[in-house]
Amino acid sequence: MDTIERLTAIFQKFPGIGPRQAQRFVQFLLRGSSSTRRELIELLQSLGGSVKQCTQCMRFSSNSGKMCSMCSNLERNPKLLAIVAADADIAALERGGIYRGFYFVLGGTISLASEKTNGLRIKQLLESIPSRIKTGLEEIILAFPANPEGDATAIQVREKLMEILPPSLTVTSLGRGLSTGSELEYADTETIKNALESRR
Ligand SMILES: [Zn+2]
Repeated sequence: MDTIERLTAIFQKFPGIGPRQAQRFVQFLLRGSSSTRRELIELLQSLGGSVKQCTQCMRFSSNSGKMCSMCSNLERNPKLLAIVAADADIAALERGGIYRGFYFVLGGTISLASEKTNGLRIKQLLESIPSRIKTGLEEIILAFPANPEGDATAIQVREKLMEILPPSLTVTSLGRGLSTGSELEYADTETIKNALESRR
């Protein structure tokens, strides 16, 4: 395979990208400026080197400290913690523009076939709660996808939280402005806003 074919094959492995789109990406890079290609090379290299997992929210970030830029941002609201399934869901909630609390990335949802919570960071979540309470936590928002896996995950996480939370803390879920089956990641700004405002 030549360079163009190899690059096309790599783009084709990206989620949601078919052969035609992969070819268009390669054509775009071919026709684009050399500075775009250089920037891409640099960014790809630093993905391998400088990206780390944040010790607080567990998302991947290229911040130099132990914590990501969000968790170390003192202007965010410590009263709110949103628990999401994946890194991409954080970007979705941020797009809504009204949520300014903190996040925790659970690392997936429960598979309905097994009902197992393997691989999910439930233990780390529970362990992080006492220190978050000390810094003012009042509400935990379960922001999982509006599908059966998301619902099952919300039930389990809520149960586990209830065992350790003082009664003064509330646990809410996103309102169903989100259409059933939808992933947060693909929801538009207005839908995200409504889901946050109608949480209960
Ligand atoms: Zn973080």
